[in-house]
Amino acid sequence: TTVPVRDVIDEAVDRARTTAQGKGITITTGGELDAVVYGDHALLVTALRNLLDNAVAYSNQGTRVGVGVSIASGAGLVEIAVVDQGIGIAPDSQDRVFERFYRVDPARSRDTGGTGLGLSIVKHIAADHGGEVTMWSEPGRGSTFTLRIPAAHESTVIVVDDELDLGTDAAPGVVGP
Ligand code: ATP
Ligand code: MG
Repeated sequence: TTVPVRDVIDEAVDRARTTAQGKGITITTGGELDAVVYGDHALLVTALRNLLDNAVAYSNQGTRVGVGVSIASGAGLVEIAVVDQGIGIAPDSQDRVFERFYRVDPARSRDTGGTGLGLSIVKHIAADHGGEVTMWSEPGRGSTFTLRIPAAHESTVIVVDDELDLGTDAAPGVVGP
């Protein structure tokens, strides 16, 4: 079904907010919040929730977490990026974090109480949607996890309208009723 990205973000951010506030972490949202994707609302909330929980868990007090939406119209994908200013992930661990049960430095992150399953779930949800999840990270600076999900018809209509505004005659069939 078609799923408004705003609804997914609102629900996931709402659920992560209490934990975030406990650490003095502010979550902000922005970008193309009107985008619509094709998928399952509950699964997408679960995926985004996992990314937000990580962003909060692996960040220090008083930092900021951002959720930004952009439309990669050429690829027909909507990108939801979760950006943190947290501890980051060492280069040699970066390609392993999506593995089941893998945790960077389990002893040091024991207080977060995770099982190491969150990102493998996100990866599965992305793949089930015909999308993907990728990451960028720099130790000490932070991490960005980007979820790419196929855009629903409503999202591409916006792009087509922009092209029609470029001055050419309206294409046959586009004239209103
Ligand atoms: P859970 O199953 O509760 O999510 P988890 O958070 O340990 O447990 P994942 O979400 O799969 O498991 O993450 C795997 C590991 O990747 C984490 O233990 C952590 O070391 C690292 N990690 C994930 N997200 C971030 C992040 N935003 N910043 C820094 N490290 C991260
Ligand atoms: Mg996690």
